[in-house]
Amino acid sequence: MKHSGSEILGQFLSRPGTDAPISVVGGGATGIQFLFEIEHFLRYHKYKNKLRLIDSGDQVLKQFPGQLARYVETLMTDLNIEYYPTTYFRGQQQGKIRLEDKNIGSQFELASSLTFLFSGKSQGSLLKANAFGQVIVDQQILQHVFVAGDCSYYQSIGSNTLTAQSAVRKGKLAARNLLRHSGLFKLLEPYLHRDIGYVISLGPSNAVGWLALENNVVTGLAAYTIKEIVEAQYDLLLVGIDTYLL
Ligand SMILES: Cc1cc2nc3c(=O)[nH]c(=O)nc-3n(C[C@H](O)[C@H](O)[C@H](O)COP(=O)(O)OP(=O)(O)OC[C@H]3O[C@@H](n4cnc5c(N)ncnc54)[C@H](O)[C@@H]3O)c2cc1C
Repeated sequence: MKHSGSEILGQFLSRPGTDAPISVVGGGATGIQFLFEIEHFLRYHKYKNKLRLIDSGDQVLKQFPGQLARYVETLMTDLNIEYYPTTYFRGQQQGKIRLEDKNIGSQFELASSLTFLFSGKSQGSLLKANAFGQVIVDQQILQHVFVAGDCSYYQSIGSNTLTAQSAVRKGKLAARNLLRHSGLFKLLEPYLHRDIGYVISLGPSNAVGWLALENNVVTGLAAYTIKEIVEAQYDLLLVGIDTYLL
């Protein structure tokens, strides 16, 4: 919290004996975004460390349309980032990373001065809710208990993705339904929000994502601009200015 990531990374890499490759584990949205930030940092500061991505899947960004993975994998090739798909991270000790081939089961080691783990985390307490955001326990609807955000799964056609986009829509719906529920008619509104896009940044001036329809893939500066706007919109909401139309 006291120092920026680039400051910490710079201090580490300026120490002697740190010129072995840097490993990023995890090809999900977080791992990919960090990978390209680190790549830009190394290039900008002229560090010679090679960069590699290790992922247990057979392609990156598995939960997104395949075109996003293909764009990212091509970019990794262009930027000389080593890619180890279908590979498990098993540990790191004294400048060496231990990996396991997922298909064959054989283990091997590679030199790695620094290893970042972005292997995700499993969801803890997930609460089921009906389409109005009211919690369901043992098939009983708790009329007065509403839930929203990552910890909720709504039984409706709306999006249950673990994203700020869904969390904001569910939160707003739950708030409206709380008010409606305390009114005379108790006519609640169902959750119908479908994802309208998702953008993953690839360094400070590139991004990839989809907009409106899952096969409508946006890349480059256009995608980056969308990401900046979406983030600004979220920051505005957190300070009380609601600019969401959909
Ligand atoms: C690294 C990263 C990058 C992401 N990037 C994106 C992105 O680009 N776009 C996108 O749409 N989504 C992104 N997400 C997902 C997005 O952040 C979440 O979907 C969103 O924050 C969910 O909102 P939430 O309110 O449900 O949970 P959170 O934002 O996680 O808030 C939960 C809060 O509850 C608090 N809390 C937890 N337990 C307790 C307790 N027992 N008592 C009191 N307080 C408690 C926590 O401290 C936290 O403040 C990203 C997530 C991560 C981790």
